[in-house]
Amino acid sequence: MATLMGCIADDFTGATDLAGLLARSGVRVSLRMGVPDHVPDDTASFEVIALKCRTSPVSEAVSQCLAALAWLKAAGASRIFWKYCSTFDSTPHGNIGPVAEALMAELGTDQTIYCPAFPENGRSVYMGNLFVGRLPLAESPMRDHPLTPMRDSNLMRLLEPQVKNPVGLVDHLQVSRGPEAIRTALGELAGQGIAHVVVDAIADSDLSTIAEACRNMVLMTGGSALAMPLPALYERDGLLGNDAVRQDLPTTKARGLVLSGSCSAMTRAQVAHYLGTGVPGFRLDPLQLAEDGIRQALTWLEGQDLSKMPLFYATAEPDSVRAAQQKLGVAKAGSIVEDALAGIAIRARQLGARRFVVAGGETSGAVTRALDVHRLDIGEEIAPGVPWCFAQSDGHDIAIALKSGNFGQEGFFADALSRLEAR
Ligand code: ADP
Repeated sequence: MATLMGCIADDFTGATDLAGLLARSGVRVSLRMGVPDHVPDDTASFEVIALKCRTSPVSEAVSQCLAALAWLKAAGASRIFWKYCSTFDSTPHGNIGPVAEALMAELGTDQTIYCPAFPENGRSVYMGNLFVGRLPLAESPMRDHPLTPMRDSNLMRLLEPQVKNPVGLVDHLQVSRGPEAIRTALGELAGQGIAHVVVDAIADSDLSTIAEACRNMVLMTGGSALAMPLPALYERDGLLGNDAVRQDLPTTKARGLVLSGSCSAMTRAQVAHYLGTGVPGFRLDPLQLAEDGIRQALTWLEGQDLSKMPLFYATAEPDSVRAAQQKLGVAKAGSIVEDALAGIAIRARQLGARRFVVAGGETSGAVTRALDVHRLDIGEEIAPGVPWCFAQSDGHDIAIALKSGNFGQEGFFADALSRLEAR
């Protein structure tokens, strides 16, 4: 059966998050790293393409997304979902609006919706304003994000300079009246030539109502949570074939390792917790790596029992990260650690590792690239937004969990592994 819905995500862990939420319903979801060269005949009902274009120049982001759209259309997708971050991360030039406008032109539609709300993670939209927990976006820590500082909380104001056509709102009062009221409101706005419609949502029930109202739009845009109700709705509509159900995913040998390149607060707690369970751990120091390379780490790896799932971590406190960055430069410190973890992953696979738990968004990209993984089949969720994924790497079945910095609870690493054991 052809693909029903094609999703384009503007970053890597965002794509995993979306794929995990779609797969919650038990449907088959496949995640591609970048736009594949050709359309295979075994596409899933829900295909997600992970791009890395959140902060790219607008023209580059648009051309990457149009290439993804062409692939998804060739796979049969009749509905497209443009996924961005639930904090609407965009530079002042912004890629969210221009990409949506380019996709609309290509798809021949003159209206789409914008809903980044993710209530489970504390993101809500009210009267067009985005909140992070109890704070307006522009008063949240996103205000000082190094790449995409968000200094306005009003999504209409953020979107307006990014698009050519008019922006409007379907507010929470309209959403709470149900799917029909949303469709009516969208129709009225369309009559006024409003192409880009922000839609309020403060609870999962709002997202279900919006998904029900908008499920047949050719283009929807938003955070991952808006897509979550869609598989069940399409199932109800009779649009999913028998093969849409997730198939048995491979079992993998219980040998592997945990690779942590994230320095986020939650990952620091997770690393401390995991080491506290008595697993062997090797700390990677960027300064030492810059001098001696990864020989020492590989020698340690070669002496390990991989059934214990040893840990390699560059995870460090902010002072120590700053010190390494001052000495090496921010980019160099990052790439030295990413390259080291990538090299360790390759050697571990040669030594028989088939399970990989990776912490860090950039780190996840580096490790999957090193393992030459292009497609992931999505399995069960370990924590909200972090599913186990299954892939082929150098002819072997591997299981891989990719966790962005602040996701998961303290016991995440051990939880992830016991989840796999329980299958
Ligand atoms: P997160 O998802 O928490 O943002 P990422 O993997 O995306 O994690 O980013 C963390 C970055 O920090 C990576 O580029 C990584 O290589 C780098 N890094 C990890 N440990 C250190 C360290 N001790 N010193 C400097 N940079 C580090």
